Amino acid sequence: MRPCFIKSFTFISLLIFNLFTAHGKSIVFESLYVFDSDHNHLKMLQNQSDLTIDQVSKYGYELYGPKGLTKWAKQINLNFIDLGQLENSNSKNFSGYPTTAEIESQLKRLQDKYPEILHLISIGKSVDGKELYFMKISDNPEIDEVEPEVKYIANMHGNEIVGRELMVKLIEDLAISYTNADQRIRQLVDNTEIYIMPTMNPDGSDKKRRGNSRWVDLNRDFPDFTTTDNQNNYNNRAPETVAVMKFQDSRNFCLSANFHGGAVVVNYPWDTTGDTPPLHDLIVDLSKEYASQVPGMYNSTRFAGGITNGYDWYHINGGMQDWSYNWYDDLQVTIELSDNKWPSYSEIPKFYTSNKASLIRYLERIHQGAGFTISKSLSGEVTINKISSQSNSKTLVGRYHFRNGEYYKVLEAGLYEFAISTTSGNDLSFNTTVKKDTTSIRGNYTRL
Ligand SMILES: [Zn+2]
Repeated sequence: MRPCFIKSFTFISLLIFNLFTAHGKSIVFESLYVFDSDHNHLKMLQNQSDLTIDQVSKYGYELYGPKGLTKWAKQINLNFIDLGQLENSNSKNFSGYPTTAEIESQLKRLQDKYPEILHLISIGKSVDGKELYFMKISDNPEIDEVEPEVKYIANMHGNEIVGRELMVKLIEDLAISYTNADQRIRQLVDNTEIYIMPTMNPDGSDKKRRGNSRWVDLNRDFPDFTTTDNQNNYNNRAPETVAVMKFQDSRNFCLSANFHGGAVVVNYPWDTTGDTPPLHDLIVDLSKEYASQVPGMYNSTRFAGGITNGYDWYHINGGMQDWSYNWYDDLQVTIELSDNKWPSYSEIPKFYTSNKASLIRYLERIHQGAGFTISKSLSGEVTINKISSQSNSKTLVGRYHFRNGEYYKVLEAGLYEFAISTTSGNDLSFNTTVKKDTTSIRGNYTRL
């Protein structure tokens, strides 16, 4: 195909597509699997802001777009199959799974049964008016305590269902273990504020589709520091996206994971750029540790060690992971749990068993860090330097904002200096040690 031919088709098609999209967002109304083993068309397709690429492999990739995508793909001679039809042929797997309403009942039942550590919080509503729930798991769950905050979000792609089921199972498991006085789980729950969102896209999961009820791809809907959509605002975003953004802004999350399906791998920042992210070695360490305990992930023949940098795999824009890390220093990885996005329900226990150790361990990893508390009315900036034990020299880790008198950061093991300047003009500093893989996990806070 001659390039100019592709170009003119692209131009015309974009005009057509724009008739269907309100604001040039990633609308995932039609879905294809494109066979393109040489990735001949990949760059061209990635450059179309209205199209969404996912799950790139040596065989090809998934391609999503607004109404008219299939017709256009035929016109430019892409070799593809219709994913929508394929998923329908997979529909025997739909049976057995709870609906969103049933998930809601399960969560309420769990909260009623374990009120001493579970507290259900709705952070907003989906397009179709369904509540968007986080389960908070902590001692005194209705009180905001000075404890590091970690979160899991699953099922932001409605048709990637394994994560939703694993989250509900994990909540129940933590509650049962806590009640049975499992010392490890007690230590975790007593010293951590854990937030778990089984489904960010309840409309999508009920409709067995990737996008939300307006066909918006939620994992392309976040602000992106590498594009023109680089302001952290709520304009033109899906209600599900806005709800998560507002909740994030109201909390102090500093470690999180985001669960998907379609491959088996831990994908770490950045997704949007080939630049090395801050605390790269720590990110790789966290990712490796997750993958290492999941059979079939660590010994993957496709991804060395079961992990990949997002951008090295395939770049995306508007993803939640990069938004979270860039704007909130909330270190987030994207965990792909299953090759089949919607496996038979009978396979769920197997996925839970494979991931359970890593799911719990990742939550514990928040305690490899340090923070401080200061008068609640104070906000300001903290500069964190790592101090070399040999030379006593300092290396800048980063400068971060804190608010409401509380700050916490996940760090590599070592000795650190926290230098704080408050908005009211006070300067103070302290040194603190972060231990590797702390077994005695208590919030490592310095009270100022
Ligand atoms: Zn996904």
